[in-house]
Order: sequence, then structure tokens, then C-alpha cells
Amino acid sequence: MEKFYQQKTEETLKHFESDRKQGLSGKEADKRLEKYGENTIQQQESLSVWELLWHNVNNLIVYLLLAAALLSFAMGETVEGIAVLIAVVIAVMTGFITELRAQKSIDSLQSMIYTTAKVIRDGEVMEIESAKIVPGDILVLEEGDAIAADARLLETSNFACIESALTGESEAVEKDARETYEADVPLGDRRNVVFAGTAATRGNAYAVVTETGMKTEVGKISDMLTGDKKRQTPLDIELDKLGKAIIIAALFAAVAVLIAGVLTNQPFVEMIHISIILAVAAIPEAMPAVSTITLSRGMRTMAEHKALVKSLSAVETLGATSIIASDKTGTLTENQMTVAEIILGSGEMFKVTGNGYEPNGKFYKADSEDETEIDATNHDTLQGMIENGALCTTATLRENEGQYEILGDPTDGAFVVLGQKIGIDRQKEQDSGLKKIAEMPFDSDNKYMVTVYEGEQRTLIIKGAPDVLIDLADADAKEKEKLHEYNDTLASHGQRVIAVGFIKDYQGGTDEAELKAALQQIKIQGFAGIVDPPRTDVKEAVKVAQEAGIRVKMITGDHPKTASMIAKEIGLKDHEKTMTGREIDELAGQEGFNEKIEEVAVFARVSPKNKLQLVEALREEGDIVSMTGDGVNDAPALNGADIGIAMGIRGTEVAKESSDMILTDDRFGTIVDAIKEGRIIFDNIKKYVSFLFSCNMVEIVTIFLSVIFLMPMPIQPLHILFLNLVIDIAPAMALAFEPAEDDIMKRQPRSKADGLVNKRFLGRIILSGVVIGLVAFGFFNFLMLTDHELLYAQTATFTFMAVAQLMHIFNVRKSSGFGLDKTLLKNKPLMGALLLSVGLQLSAVYVPFMNELLDTMPIQAGTWGIIFAAAAISTLIVMGLKKLFQLK
Ligand code: ADP
Ligand code: MG
Repeated sequence: MEKFYQQKTEETLKHFESDRKQGLSGKEADKRLEKYGENTIQQQESLSVWELLWHNVNNLIVYLLLAAALLSFAMGETVEGIAVLIAVVIAVMTGFITELRAQKSIDSLQSMIYTTAKVIRDGEVMEIESAKIVPGDILVLEEGDAIAADARLLETSNFACIESALTGESEAVEKDARETYEADVPLGDRRNVVFAGTAATRGNAYAVVTETGMKTEVGKISDMLTGDKKRQTPLDIELDKLGKAIIIAALFAAVAVLIAGVLTNQPFVEMIHISIILAVAAIPEAMPAVSTITLSRGMRTMAEHKALVKSLSAVETLGATSIIASDKTGTLTENQMTVAEIILGSGEMFKVTGNGYEPNGKFYKADSEDETEIDATNHDTLQGMIENGALCTTATLRENEGQYEILGDPTDGAFVVLGQKIGIDRQKEQDSGLKKIAEMPFDSDNKYMVTVYEGEQRTLIIKGAPDVLIDLADADAKEKEKLHEYNDTLASHGQRVIAVGFIKDYQGGTDEAELKAALQQIKIQGFAGIVDPPRTDVKEAVKVAQEAGIRVKMITGDHPKTASMIAKEIGLKDHEKTMTGREIDELAGQEGFNEKIEEVAVFARVSPKNKLQLVEALREEGDIVSMTGDGVNDAPALNGADIGIAMGIRGTEVAKESSDMILTDDRFGTIVDAIKEGRIIFDNIKKYVSFLFSCNMVEIVTIFLSVIFLMPMPIQPLHILFLNLVIDIAPAMALAFEPAEDDIMKRQPRSKADGLVNKRFLGRIILSGVVIGLVAFGFFNFLMLTDHELLYAQTATFTFMAVAQLMHIFNVRKSSGFGLDKTLLKNKPLMGALLLSVGLQLSAVYVPFMNELLDTMPIQAGTWGIIFAAAAISTLIVMGLKKLFQLK
């Protein structure tokens, strides 16, 4: 196999018959895609149909039912045995079909989450889906890009990658296309190639793709990467536990019955039979299917609300979020930056008018009493600063049918627009001979950007966070104090302040070390105060979140004063409690650090590393943290948060890959919407779990009482299976469609410890089971005492249970109060399911074939009257007791 890092670039290009400027042709790329396959890593294949089926067969419920069937056959109860087998098939098939459908829907949602890459094809730079990259493609790489395939670098400028995913090395690796190697060198030292799965942190590059998909270095080791841990959600585990607990309880009950029966001299065979019934009654046959259906439906709803959630477990965790740690710029604010005020190094202050990115506006002198309009082109120092600001940018302004928009960084955009307001244009100056000879792109660790231009003389320009620039600047302490004051003035207006500085006749070199060393000589020209208005809907979303007991924390690279002002404007609680990245660095690891972090609402001047520290501190305090991020450096924090949220528009590919959820509209409000959806889902899961288990409880209680009081069985095994597998399933599934309860965003977040199964929840299940079970037992006795034949009494008791369970759903669907109200109309599937279940029960009682099969007989109108009255009464008692004991 070729070792491309040992080749010259021309050789590699020739090998792949590609061209640095033209790239591949679209046709050729299609051909190669056919030949080499998609550029994807099959880290975790989704379960095949057979695996899914096996997954449903291979479970405790199925085994118990099979054992029950065997016993029935052994005792000569052939019909019953067959019926239990049918039950097994139904249980397996509903589980299988719903999971299959859920998986399909998850797959289709996940295919919405794809990454893109820039390549050159047919001579043009275009963005394509990373999966469509083929060997020979020319990659166009810049800061923030995920590297989508292994490739040989062709050109590099100040280019570096983070390769920790592959090599474990956390420092960025400098890359250089000109490098060649004679001998073998380890992965981490190959500076002329890039690897799939890594990320560009700085600079620009072109590279020709050498390997794709499973052939890449990361593909070769992908088996070793654990991709499986998110398969079983915490909820799954909890439901599993609950199910097992109930089954064990039922087995105990069965054994108790058996012993009681033997002690009271009842026929042994009969007792075994009853024990089987009890066990069957306890099994939550429909459980697994319903939880998958609910979660996958949740994913779909969230996607409709512009939140792409990557896994079922994330859907669930979202609902428990107790802290949202959100970026300020672009998420809480518009990221529409306009320079509104300027203070020069001399202290002179100006106001600038204008609308967004529209390149028209006036300048006013603002430090005198009456503001007078001035001509900025007549003010040398002001013009000089504006010009330098505009030259130290990479963004471009574009007009589109009267609408102005910025391509590139919005902060840069503000300076581009400011320049155009006095007729300064970076491109024009470059066209007329000014040459850019060096650039250090902006990065959020440095918090500044540097360019060097060659004209009549060399000029170094720097633009960045004022405190950083003032610290660097060539000025004495007194001057610096003054400069800090100017910065504070603008920051206290809630403006994002950017300082512009320069070195006039720059003599130094142009590589990074030389530029950095020179920064001690910069002179501050002035400060630009930029307004970035809060998004219109943010205030409302913050309010909703805070009412829901979710604390919102602002995280920003901006100045504490600016941040705090914006925080106040959007109604953030404790907005005056701020902390800077430097303070975080100092306090980290000390006693009381975590508590301190809990209290603070605004984190300013933070570095990406600080973000990770914040996440860790908050999680240690038991919080469920949802954190936003967009840059390459945010990846560790996004990984570390319970829910890492990447920005769909602004975010880098790397951030998207490291996140659990992607906001396709970058809006803060979307996070709050997703949390609400998560809460609804958890609520609904609780509802149907409660419903299914209380129905089982009813059956257990009734049977147990009959054994104790030496009564004949009030209900037959088949009836129980019919209830559990036919009558209850549709309504339980329909509970997944329950609309939000009114107070859903008024409650506190559920605590980590307070899972699904807590005392109150169990209390509610037992309470309803006991009440309805007692009434069922009473009803059966009443029928027996009033000289009805056993079959009639059993059919009627069976029917009573069906009706009472269906009515009980009104208790379940509202956590307080009774759920038979107009909100029922919002859940059409539930109305349909109730009608269906009633119809099925009628058929069980009146269709001759069903009479035969289920061993039932028609019942009379009078009995129906009693059934309805008794069911209504028991449901109402449950409701009353629920209120009395506050079993929410
Ligand atoms: P945020 O966008 O939340 O303010 P960043 O890390 O992007 O966080 O920026 C940190 C600081 O760096 C900003 O507050 C600003 O002072 C400065 N800054 C941001 N963007 C630029 C840019 N394009 N050029 C120069 N300085 C910038
Ligand atoms: Mg930013």
C-alpha cells in the first residue's frame, strides 16, 4: 500500500488523477463513489431485523409465558395453553413491530444529522455531504472544520489540527504540506497529512483525499471505539427493574397461594393453575413496546421544533435539565453586530448611527453637551482607527435585494460596515496595491486577530478584546488606567467592546512567534462599542425556563459588564453575579468552588477550557447540565455536559459531532422548547407505566383475595391475557400522545435521584390496584350469592375489570384531578383506543366464536348497569384517595 506521506504532492495527485485547482469532475466522483463506497464509519450498525426480533423473544416475560403455556399443556388445559402461546406471539410481535418502526424513524431522523465538507469539483469549491467524499477529492480546510477523510496536504497556511481522537495528543499539531519523509514515522508525526476524525483548529489548507470510510486510520480502529454505551437508556434500566420487581412479587404471591391452598386442603393441581394465572397477571406484556414508541415519537416532535436529538436517552435526559448554560453571542443575542459608539485613545467619543449591516450612517461627536454631526473623513485619528479596524477583518458584506448580509464573522462584519460608512473597503484597498502579508486568525483563547499589510510601509494591525490588548500595549500604568476607563464606559452601556491597535512602521517578521513577540509594541487607537440586541423571543424563553426551576447561566467570551447588562435586559436571575475566566482559573480545585459556580449566573471572558470546568463543577453538584457550544474547542465541554448542544447554523462540524442535540435555528428558545417536550415525554411514560401496572395490580388483588377466602376463581387465565394484551394495549400506547399538562413548565425539574419508581408512584399503583381489585372481588361475590352460574359471574367480573381499567385511565392521564374533560379531545388516539377497547370487550362477551375461545357467555343489561356503576364508583374512590394522600 502506498505511503502517501512519503510521496511528493505531485505524485499523490497523479496517483489519484486529480488536480489541485480543478479537483475531480462530478462524473468521476460519482464513479468513484460507486467503486469505493460511502465515506462512513460503521461504528455501530443498527440492529438487523432478525436481531431485533431475537431481542424481543429473548426476554424474561416471554420465558415466563412459555413456562405457563407448558404447564397448561401438561395439566391438560390445551385451549389455555394455546391461548398463552398466542399471547406470547402477540407480545413478541407488538414489541417487534413497534421497535422496528421506532428504529426506522430514528434512522431517518439521524440521517438528517450529517456533516458536510468543502471540496473542489469541476474547478469550483462546493459543500458536500461528508459521506460522498471519494479518494482524489480536493478538500478545502479551515479553522473549525472536521477532517472527513485521510488526505495528503497540498498547501498549508498556518495550519494546525487537533488529533487527540486518534493519537491521544491534546496539543494541536502544526501541519506543513512541504514536509516529506523518507522513512516510516508514527501517525502523530506525519505533518504533511491529515486524518479523518480530527479537526482543524487554525489556518487554511488544501489536501487530496487518499483514503475514505473504513480504510482511514480511524476506520481501522473503529472496532475499538466504544459506540454502544448509549443503547440502553436509564429509563430502560429502570423499567426493567420495575418489571422484574413486580414479577418477583407475583411469584411470591403465587407461592403463597400454593402454600395457602395446600394448607387448606384444596386440590394441588388447581392451586398450580391459579399460581400460573397470578404470574401471568403480573407480567407487563406491553411495556417494552410502549416506551420505545414514546421516546421515538419525542425525537420526531423535537425535530419538528428545530432540535435534532441524537439518541433516545438524550430525549429523556433533556426533560430533567436543571441548568442551561448558554452562549451569549448568537444564541441569546441576534449576532447582528453594529458599531454604535467609539472612544479614541485620546478620550474623544463619537456616536455612529445606522441600521444593522446597512452601510449608511452618520457620525456625531458625543462628548460635548450638544451632539454635533461631523465628517469622519476629516478626523484623522478617527478615520485611521476605522480604516485599521476594517482592514483587520475577513468578513464580506453582500447586498441581496436591498437586504445586507455578512458572510463570515459578525464582529468582523461590524467593522466592515463601519468602514463602508466612510467609504473604506478592504477589497478596494487591496486591489489598489495594499498587500496583506500575514494574518493570525481570531481565536477565542487569544481573543484577538492580527494582520500585517505591506504598502508604502509595513503596518501591523490588531483587533480584539480590550482588556487583552490594553495588557499587551505599549503604555504606562496611568495611560492604561485611562484606557480601561474608556473600555468600562462602553461596556457599561451593554456594548461589546473591541479595541483596535497597531504598530505603525512594523519592522518584524511574519510568522506566528514573531508576530506574538511584537505585540508588546502596539498602540491602542481606540475602542468600538458594538450593539448586539437580544433576540426578540429570548426574554420570554428565559422566563419560561426560570419558572420551570431551570437556572439559566450565560457564558461568554465578552466583558463582564457587557455580559451582565445583556443578562439584565433578558431577565436573567442573579444577573449581577458575575465571574471571569481568570477567577475560575484561580478558584478551581479550591474548597467551595462548586458552590460558587452554582451561584454565579454570568460567566465572562471564559476560555473553552473554563467551559469544561463549569460543566464538571455543576455536574458534581448533582445538576443536569445542558450546555451550548459552537467552536472546535468547545468539543470537550459538549462531550462532558449531560446534553451538549451544538449550533446548527453557526456551529462547526466538530461541535456538531460532539453534541447530543443540534439546534437547527441556533435559538435559545428552541432549547427551552426541547426541554418542555422532554418533560411531556417523561410525564407520559409515567402515565402509561402507572396505567399498565395498576391494571395488573387489580388482577393480582382479586385473585389473591379469592384464594384466601376459598372462593372459586373470579376470572380465568385467558381473560387476564385478553385484558393485558388486547384491552389495555391501545389505550396505553395512546397515552404517549397526551398533550402537556398546564403546569408542565411550572414544576421544578425532576431530580436525578427521583427516578420513575418512587414511593408516591408505587403508592398510587398499589392504591388503585387494591381499590378496584376489592370492588371486583365484591362484585364477583355478589353475583355468586345472587345465584348466577360461575361462568356468568366470571364473564361479568372480567367485563367489570375491562370497564374499570378503561375508566381508570382518566385517573392516570392527569397527575391531579380527573382526566375526563375537554383535554381528552386533544388526544384523538386515546378516544379511538377507548372505543376500540370497548368494542373488543363487547365482542368477547357477545360473539359466539369468542365465547367459545375465551370461555365466556353473554351478560344481561342489568348486569351492565351494575358494572358501570361499580366501575365509576371505584374510579372515583381512587381519585379521592389520590387527592387525600397527595399521590401526584
Ligand atoms: P463571545 O462571542 O461569546 O464574546 P468569543 O470567544 O467569540 O466569545 O470572543 C471573545 C472576545 O474576543 C470577544 O468578547 C471580543 O472582545 C473578542 N472578539 C470576538 N470576535 C472577534 C473578532 N472577530 N475580532 C477581534 N476580536 C474578537
Ligand atoms: Mg464569538
